[in-house]
Amino acid sequence: MSQLLRIKCPSCQTVVDLPGNGPCKKCGNNVVFPEDGVIQIYRMGNPMGCAVGFGVYLNEIPMGHLGNTEQIRIPVSFGHYKLHMTHGMSRKCVDAEFDITPNERIVYLKGHLKMGLLTNTVVIEKVTADQMPPL
Ligand SMILES: [Zn+2]
Repeated sequence: MSQLLRIKCPSCQTVVDLPGNGPCKKCGNNVVFPEDGVIQIYRMGNPMGCAVGFGVYLNEIPMGHLGNTEQIRIPVSFGHYKLHMTHGMSRKCVDAEFDITPNERIVYLKGHLKMGLLTNTVVIEKVTADQMPPL
């Protein structure tokens, strides 16, 4: 589990996990996180033990990977978001759409793999805080 926050560095466009505002691990430029809200994503364990990370896309923007049973937090500004995740070559995903608003600053999401005959589908569900494992 990670206490780090994920951001796409505005200077070098690299997706980095940082403990808070500070220098980017890649380019050293100062990174300031948005403070309106947080998107917290948990990838549920997969009995097949697939080591392949989920590709994470927020409003079509690649936001790195999420490993088996990993959890990430992405600080964001108020707005409408669509979360899409991919698994290996599979682009099939039941996306989640939601708003970050002053009334709902933190959105919790769980992703899991639905095994299919030929291809697997990533299913993302919006959940409540008590359905999330501790960070
Ligand atoms: Zn950078």
